[in-house]
Amino acid sequence: METDCIFCKIVKKEIPARIIYESNFSVAILDIAPATRGHTVVIPKKHFYNLIDMPKDIMGGFFEDIQKVSKLIMEKLKVKGFNLIQNNFEVAGQIVPHAHFHIVPRYENDNFPQFKKDPIQATSDKLDAIFKLFT
Ligand SMILES: [Zn+2]
Repeated sequence: METDCIFCKIVKKEIPARIIYESNFSVAILDIAPATRGHTVVIPKKHFYNLIDMPKDIMGGFFEDIQKVSKLIMEKLKVKGFNLIQNNFEVAGQIVPHAHFHIVPRYENDNFPQFKKDPIQATSDKLDAIFKLFT
């Protein structure tokens, strides 16, 4: 636990939040600045900066929770889809320094930006250069 972390405070119930789900691994809260109706944030109970820092022993339970909460959202809000979004490090838009996943319920014409809406095909040279970094 980090004493000045807002998500640790929510986990410890020192700050009120609309907790829609809780398990040994996580709490899921309604985002106070929702991207769409019912936007939910799933937070591991232990403090980790982001995905890179999360230990293997909590991954299974935590991801099961993400799946359970996603199903709950689809059922309770009667939506037909959702996006799962997770930001790692400041350059990627991580604001709160405690790992978390966003579940964004989707609606027809909700104006939420579509990932890869108009993709631009990469050249073979560029893809090969990246591919070589992994092989
Ligand atoms: Zn924390």
